[in-house]
Amino acid sequence: MDRNQALERVKPELTEHRFVHTIGVMETAIDLAMRYGADVKKAELAAVFHDFAKFRPKSEMKQIIIEQNLGSELLLHNEELWHAPVGAYLVEKEVGIVDSEILNAIRFHTSGRPDMTLLEKIIYVADYIEPGRHFPGVEEVRELAQKSLNEALIKAIQNTVVFLMKKKQPIYPDTFLTYNDLVKNLE
Ligand code: GDP
Ligand code: FE
Ligand code: FE
Ligand code: FE
Repeated sequence: MDRNQALERVKPELTEHRFVHTIGVMETAIDLAMRYGADVKKAELAAVFHDFAKFRPKSEMKQIIIEQNLGSELLLHNEELWHAPVGAYLVEKEVGIVDSEILNAIRFHTSGRPDMTLLEKIIYVADYIEPGRHFPGVEEVRELAQKSLNEALIKAIQNTVVFLMKKKQPIYPDTFLTYNDLVKNLE
């Protein structure tokens, strides 16, 4: 599947705003893949489809999480987390992508996980720093991403956790597990 076919396939699934975001993630992921020596075509495809399930009805996502055993813990947490694992499932089922590296980059793009692969880190960071993102702290993560993907990821998770805590929102445990794993490996 080439880039244009992929973009044509994802476009009707998204709003115009989210489609523009997706193109920003794609371009950023390609840059990071070249910089850090990841597979550029896989980064491109994972980025194009990372938010594939973003606008599926909550009821459909909930049903998929239950029926496909994507983890009951997810259902206790913010619905915003659901589109990542559900997206990985639907991209395989409806788009026909079977590459597990691409599917895992989609699956873990919101929470991360311990022992993230290079491709997973690239999609996570690209999603956070693409040029359409404008929030406090994003510029610092953009700069970190030029020198260290791990440092960029740690800062992005810190920002997300602080942001959620200020709103007194619960933090998904995998977010902390990802953070702990990254800082442990710095030592
Ligand atoms: P997007 O799909 O491009 O908007 O970006 P993401 O998939 O990275 O994030 C979707 C939403 O999930 C954002 O609003 C984050 O704040 C939220 N989110 C990320 N991590 C956590 C978490 O650990 N707990 C909760 N409750 N929300 C989170
Ligand atoms: Fe997302
Ligand atoms: Fe993200
Ligand atoms: Fe996104």
